[in-house]
Amino acid sequence: MVPFFYTSQLEQYQFSESHPLKPMRLRLMLELIEAYGLFGSSLCLQEPSLSEERATVEILRVHTQRYVDIVKAISVGEPIMEMTRWGFSPLGDNPPFVGMWEAALAYVKTTVAAAYAVRDGESLAFSMGGGLHHAMPDRASGFCVFNDPAIAIAILRERFPRVAYLDIDLHHGDGVQWIFYRDPMVLTVSIHEGGRWLFPGTGFADELGEGEAWGTSINIPLAPETDDEIWWWAFQQVVPRAFERFQPDALVLQMGADPHYLDPLGHLNLTAQGWLRAVAWARSLGLPTVALGGGGYNLTTVPRMWTLAVATLVGIELPDETPDHFRWHDRIPTLTDHETPTIVPSDREYARRYAEQQVAFLLKVLRGV
Ligand SMILES: [Zn+2]
Repeated sequence: MVPFFYTSQLEQYQFSESHPLKPMRLRLMLELIEAYGLFGSSLCLQEPSLSEERATVEILRVHTQRYVDIVKAISVGEPIMEMTRWGFSPLGDNPPFVGMWEAALAYVKTTVAAAYAVRDGESLAFSMGGGLHHAMPDRASGFCVFNDPAIAIAILRERFPRVAYLDIDLHHGDGVQWIFYRDPMVLTVSIHEGGRWLFPGTGFADELGEGEAWGTSINIPLAPETDDEIWWWAFQQVVPRAFERFQPDALVLQMGADPHYLDPLGHLNLTAQGWLRAVAWARSLGLPTVALGGGGYNLTTVPRMWTLAVATLVGIELPDETPDHFRWHDRIPTLTDHETPTIVPSDREYARRYAEQQVAFLLKVLRGV
């Protein structure tokens, strides 16, 4: 059985009542996977057993002690000078909240547990409450306090010489990219809506890594209205070549569900089944894999996309119709999409041309290195 790390403490990670990052998306995913009967048959549902002290040591692989102290202070309501310096602000993406340290610790713990499971011999482990890819070493960003994918990569590097990070979230995986930007032993690949249109405003094709690590940072920015066909075409053109060249020994997979056409935060137009092709491709590599969640803000799409992703990675085909006894069966009747987004032809044409330009540039880079 594949370890699936989860704790109800993950559901405490909520910046405010009105914040788009809703813990309910995790609870519903858990219930849907449960309804399909995967726990106890294919997946072993486990609480991470890490102590707070130990989790802090893991956080310090990537983050500064000063930043950790600031997060702890904010978490107990201490007034902090220049809170925005650390990425927090009451009116911004990351409003401080009491209990933030414990809540952030929860997803760090599940991801660390998954990373150790894979480092110590499991071929796959899940931390679907993780994948918070925007956090910087000393700054919160984009709903992310700590960068658990980067911590997972650092843990895997203890056993695997070359680690790849694949990020299929709507947004650029900037925190992970910058943390390993000068590390030639870590490949970061992100396919996302381009920084011209969307937060965090980075992830352009010419962000390629520095020094010896040049060519180990790969970005495929795509235009608004990009659909399944364009997204998958760009993915196939670039990602397999990047992996082929890098020859990774292990994988950290960030599976943000926000490229979906019903997601409120972005403008990509993917369906669940279109997005899932990248997950199936990742599985086909046969690499030891730490599988993470990420973004995703539509409560009727995230639970089913992650259920599909989890099933795909463990190699199970689920009936498309969700079980009758699933709490949201009425609102999520099927796993895949049976409707497709309507796209204005000229917008689609622009998205296609934009993708072709990015791919042409990246293929030159990949052939030239
Ligand atoms: Zn995202």
